[in-house]
Amino acid sequence: MGTDTALLKGAEVSAKIKEQVTEELKKLQGFPIKLAIIRVGERPDDLSYERGAKKKLDSFGLSAESYVFPEDITDQEFKEAFRRINQDEEITGILLLRPLPKQICEGDIEEMIDPRKDLDGISPKNIAKVFAGDETGFAPCTAEAVIQVLKAYHIPLEGKRVVIVGRSMVVGRPLSMLMLKENATVTICHTRTRDLKETCRNGEILVAAAGRARMLDSSYVGKDGVVIDVGINVDEDGKLCGDVDIASISGKASMATPVPGGVGAVTTAVLAQHLVRAAGILYRKQ
Ligand code: NAP
Repeated sequence: MGTDTALLKGAEVSAKIKEQVTEELKKLQGFPIKLAIIRVGERPDDLSYERGAKKKLDSFGLSAESYVFPEDITDQEFKEAFRRINQDEEITGILLLRPLPKQICEGDIEEMIDPRKDLDGISPKNIAKVFAGDETGFAPCTAEAVIQVLKAYHIPLEGKRVVIVGRSMVVGRPLSMLMLKENATVTICHTRTRDLKETCRNGEILVAAAGRARMLDSSYVGKDGVVIDVGINVDEDGKLCGDVDIASISGKASMATPVPGGVGAVTTAVLAQHLVRAAGILYRKQ
């Protein structure tokens, strides 16, 4: 990294979130708070996210329990197990690791999950709230993590040209709505976008969420642009890297998040924040 591009470090944002979570936890003393992480099979991505989430929750003084099911579980068996976890009063938040194996209908699970425990915003009710700009629901943790990184570093969004590469339901789409809520002017790019480079270069803030190792080099970045790299990829050498070629953009972008050590670290902190908020909502309603 050259001296001109400042690194936006996830650990610093996560530390700020921890302070808020610690304050909230004081108000919830005596109430059980537990995250259920639901995993089907042994996908390396899931295992690594699960490990990271548990470690982060532990460091925030929160507990998580994994519910692991075999890859070949039937749709009916999984739904029965899911229903029990969903209704368990000791469980205040749920994180479902996806995608699920093909025999399980994910859409049914999205409908089943209690929106009050749906920490990663997969239920139609929470998605609708994100689209309506209603902050009482849960947005997907990664999309919210991007906003929190920008806010923690006092990077204004109002009126800014924000370009997002990726239109998935976990990152690109919900993030575009959260950006809109912040009064940014949003462009969403995908594989059919023409003039991708030019469109990206025109963004004052560029968010990469394509899942393509080091795809975006300096030719995609505008001078002094802010670059947020959501990508988590493994390169040909087995090394973890983002969607942005950080060496290439060095000196051109004004600020950028590294991978690892950027958005990923904040995503699990947001998960912890959502868990405590969910507990607050559940217990206040009783
Ligand atoms: P996804 O479902 O595969 O979606 C990728 C999106 O990028 C799609 O909309 C796709 O366009 C677009 N895209 C792919 N290649 C492109 C290209 N060459 N040019 C333009 N657009 C392109 O991925 P995802 O689940 O959103 O995840 C994206 C990345 O974020 C992955 O690396 C993932 O590991 C990472 N991730 C990180 C976190 C975190 O906590 N930091 C959390 C979740 C995901 P089409 O729609 O046209 O196919």
